[in-house]
Amino acid sequence: MAARTGPWTEPGAHQVAPGVHRIPLPLPNDGLHAVNVYSIATPTGLVLIDSGWGLREARAALESALASIGHELGDVERFLVTHMHRDHYTLAVELRRLFGSRIALGAGEQPNIELVLAGKAQQQVSDLRAWGAQDLVEKLRAAMDSAGQRDYSYEPPDEWISGVCDIEVGDRVLRAVPTPGHTRGHVVFVDEAAGALFAGDHVLPHITPSIGFEPARATLPLGDYMDSLRLMRTYPDMVLLPAHGPVAPSVHNRVDELLIHHEERLAATLEATRSGATTAADTARRLGWTRHHRAFDTLDLFNQVLAIGETAAHLDVLVTRGTLKPTTSDGVTEYTPQPASAATPEQTTTPTDNTTA
Ligand SMILES: [Zn+2]
Repeated sequence: MAARTGPWTEPGAHQVAPGVHRIPLPLPNDGLHAVNVYSIATPTGLVLIDSGWGLREARAALESALASIGHELGDVERFLVTHMHRDHYTLAVELRRLFGSRIALGAGEQPNIELVLAGKAQQQVSDLRAWGAQDLVEKLRAAMDSAGQRDYSYEPPDEWISGVCDIEVGDRVLRAVPTPGHTRGHVVFVDEAAGALFAGDHVLPHITPSIGFEPARATLPLGDYMDSLRLMRTYPDMVLLPAHGPVAPSVHNRVDELLIHHEERLAATLEATRSGATTAADTARRLGWTRHHRAFDTLDLFNQVLAIGETAAHLDVLVTRGTLKPTTSDGVTEYTPQPASAATPEQTTTPTDNTTA
């Protein structure tokens, strides 16, 4: 591990292991600050884990970072992309058009990519109605000038990564492991020999990834996510190479923190329904948001939508635990607390931070 010499967003190619560099690339007006792509040198070229957002600034930053280690954009033979979010996927599409690099993506992302290619990337608008946020639907429609149009920054990958599989990258073997939750087809890449995890947005060192923010939202995204966190516990502890934030020493430590965070959040969500909240939107308005406990009304429209989706994900896990009962009328789902005796015992703690990726 190279010593850190500045903030993690500092441009350049930062060596994290022999032949492996972390390259932070800029994002547009985004609270995440930057996205890390990881370059792995092979005898024939480069393999990149994630690609960055297909923006001129990101491409220029990648080009100069690669130049600093003696490479150029055309040396990238293959992109292994952790999930379909545009800050991970779309620069790969752009560079494939120019250089013919190949793109691999988790097979679980297929429904998401299909909706994007069909111009239906904004499916969450219909979820908002069920979540009791009809008022946000019109606002969102007005804000989405591109709704219903084909997004040309997306194309299908060359290969779908199916199940757990080993991928040879030069003399390394990366084990692709499906980790649904952040998106339904998210995968991480385990380099067991090097003791390192290319974690994408599954495990982030300083923020909690958003849950199920995707066109084809899974039925129980938070349940999937927590299972995927526990799955990381079945591997030996590794160095965390995240897509946002600095390299961190222990995947296990961060997994434990994230699981505790969601248990606390589940407890706060249940508490809100016990004090009268009924829909996901109603519940979200009673919770604190971001690490600064911001009131829901101070969030921008995009983050309000994320917050409500996040709350719905928590409510649905409480339903599977038997502590809430859902009823749907007029397309709106309401949740009713169940008697404590029917419920699984839970920690009772206060809400903490929640930031999205
Ligand atoms: Zn993401």
